[in-house]
Amino acid sequence: MGRVYNFSAGPAVLPEEVLREAAAEMLDYNGSGMSVMEMSHRSKVYDDIIKTAEADLRELMGVPDNYEVLFLQGGAWTQFAAVPMNLMKNGVADYIVTGQWAKKAWQEAQKYGKANKIASSEDETFSYIPDCSDLPIDDDADYVYICENNTIYGTKYWKLPNTKGKTLVADVSSCFLSEPVDVTKYGVIYGGVQKNIGPAGVTIVIIRKDLIRDDLPDYVPTLLKYKTQADAGSLFNTPPCYGIYICGKVFKWLKKMGGLAEMKKRNEEKAAILYDFLDSSNMFKGTVRKEDRSLMNVPFVTGNEELDAKFVAESKSAGFENLKGHRTVGGMRASIYNAMPREGVEKLVQFMDEFEKNN
Ligand SMILES: *Cc1c(COP(=O)(O)O)cnc(C)c1O
Repeated sequence: MGRVYNFSAGPAVLPEEVLREAAAEMLDYNGSGMSVMEMSHRSKVYDDIIKTAEADLRELMGVPDNYEVLFLQGGAWTQFAAVPMNLMKNGVADYIVTGQWAKKAWQEAQKYGKANKIASSEDETFSYIPDCSDLPIDDDADYVYICENNTIYGTKYWKLPNTKGKTLVADVSSCFLSEPVDVTKYGVIYGGVQKNIGPAGVTIVIIRKDLIRDDLPDYVPTLLKYKTQADAGSLFNTPPCYGIYICGKVFKWLKKMGGLAEMKKRNEEKAAILYDFLDSSNMFKGTVRKEDRSLMNVPFVTGNEELDAKFVAESKSAGFENLKGHRTVGGMRASIYNAMPREGVEKLVQFMDEFEKNN
């Protein structure tokens, strides 16, 4: 059986070239006589792997020297707690709630201080990004928090909020490395890599060095203090070695593809193929405000649940996997991350067009 077109929201499709390389190196990485899974994280060989991965990520994103790059575990969910624990100095933070992930982060932060919800799009099922040009930012806010690309609903901030000088923290799990980014606009950028970069198990945190504190309350677990891993080059304890190795390969692949500007161009082209079809179809419709559309996650519906279910079943038989929408939204969702080839989107649209004609 060949490979399918995998539209999963995450864990998600990886570049085939990367998987082939990893397969070829499975039993003997670079003459070491072992798999990367079997080697000490303190070995010279592994040190090269993690250092090269960090250097390539810094180059891709243009991460300035006054930022740390951390390779951690625990997923985005752990950061929902780590962010307030590390950054709440005044004990106050402002959250913009644009989806389930932002909402969960906001709820988690309430355990550690005062977490204000300063804007939300929940009134219309998170189908848009609220106007963030003049929000009631708390004078004492230690940071303003956003989820930059809303994986479940398919919206994206195309303009960052006006934080009125406060530190911006962004969960970029589902848009990581999808386009060029000005890191200096953020205090913290973080995400689980299993959406747009690598295998589940690695969380990347990019944090401005002055935000890394030594004076945290005693209750903060050693491993959740950014300082712990920043001082140890992400090697305080055993890191997710194999996952970081695959991420490193994806960074190399992205560089070879032409970097993030080229990825943005490709992602725009891919998304346009799907959105143009949705805008012209009489059966399928996109579910979010046009100007807030994500390039990565594209939810759509027919307006008829039975027809949605039929579409999901028939698309699966035709080799398009994981098109069922998130359980909280229903309908369909096509996640078209960096590694989804353009051809996959073209074939999906062709299939949708035929389905429309036949139903
Ligand atoms: C998937 C996702 C999460 C949850 O990530 P885990 O790694 O499973 O904790 C959080 N935020 C966003 C934007 C996501 O897409």
